[in-house]
Amino acid sequence: MTGSGRFAPSPSGDLHLGNLRTALLAWLFARSTQRSFALRIEDLDRVADGAEARQIADLRSVGIDFDGTPVRQSERRELYDAALDRLVDADLVYECYCTRREILDAASAPHAPDGAYPGTCRNFTDKERAIRRTARPAALRLRADESSWTVSDLLHGEFTGVVDDFVLRRGDGIPAYNLAVVVDDGDQGIDQVVRADDLLTSAPRQAYLAGLLGIEPPQYVHVPLAVGPTGKRLAKRDGAVTLRDRIELGEMPSDVFRLIAGSFGVDATSARQLLGRWDSTLVPSAPWAVRLPP
Ligand code: GLU
Ligand code: ZN
Repeated sequence: MTGSGRFAPSPSGDLHLGNLRTALLAWLFARSTQRSFALRIEDLDRVADGAEARQIADLRSVGIDFDGTPVRQSERRELYDAALDRLVDADLVYECYCTRREILDAASAPHAPDGAYPGTCRNFTDKERAIRRTARPAALRLRADESSWTVSDLLHGEFTGVVDDFVLRRGDGIPAYNLAVVVDDGDQGIDQVVRADDLLTSAPRQAYLAGLLGIEPPQYVHVPLAVGPTGKRLAKRDGAVTLRDRIELGEMPSDVFRLIAGSFGVDATSARQLLGRWDSTLVPSAPWAVRLPP
């Protein structure tokens, strides 16, 4: 095997059909390219009781298998801290004391690129820092030398997006998602990242940070989201949208699988069966408009 793909759910609740489809796509892309496939539980934040075990069971019941033991971000703090220390040593980190409100107000100023941190705290003197530090716990931000970066995505081609001085460690001391994901993908030997395309705009920041940490950026594959009847991203409000909901209505995991496989225009009831017929051109470029059987 060469390289590895991964699925990295946040255990904040049960996986819905869109999440299962993204997981299946990650598995298909990895398995069809002879990669191994890792599961990482992104539990630094928002953990729902029992969700991790239910997510793993649901993935298995639609035929998605993993290599190795799942890793949990909550158990890998030393790795994130070590990476942060290296960036601090390279003088690439500074403290930020801004509130969310202050950032929103400053970011709407005409010179700030879309959603980018405006750099308010970048050039404070030691004296100014000492004063502001007493007001609230500081977040740590990357001192980025670039304002954009280009990544290569199998479905989107060359994608250029904003790189700003993004947060590496939150004010509450928790490693930020962008840091954890880069450190973990590097540490786990992940060279293919398949995930929902709402994260495409995060990829330039992550690839840039990877470079600073001496990590080769992965091949990205950002896949379309699932949407409900109103055209908004699929959510609980759309009804029986989790595997467990469907099973309660009398369906089998194979029925749910067939619904997902149908979104690729393939009639298949198991992951292995779909893998045998897999081809990356089967991923439609439009969001998956989920039509639930009555
Ligand atoms: N944990 C993130 C999520 O559930 C995915 C992060 C990633 O795949 O990079 O949306
Ligand atoms: Zn700030």
